[in-house]
Amino acid sequence: MSSSTPLSELTALYILGGTPLYDAHTGQPLDSSDKSLRVGRGALAQASRGAVAGLEPPRFCPLCGRRMKVQVNPMGWTAECSRHGELDSALVMDV
Ligand SMILES: [Zn+2]
Repeated sequence: MSSSTPLSELTALYILGGTPLYDAHTGQPLDSSDKSLRVGRGALAQASRGAVAGLEPPRFCPLCGRRMKVQVNPMGWTAECSRHGELDSALVMDV
């Protein structure tokens, strides 16, 4: 799926090296002492083995913890947060 939208916040986080607030594989806040961060619906207790090995696309937005819409394609995957935009695996893996 191609997109002509400008750099999404999500893409910028990965490319520019921002600080993620949530674990992309479990949806859990990375800083558990920060009470302003909420655990989103569907968050997992721990990442699956494949996720830990870096084999799976992110399932949760690292910026807000929302569950993302993930589509796997022959070239990799795309993940989309309804609020922070789309992320393409090609951008992440080339870094
Ligand atoms: Zn988001």
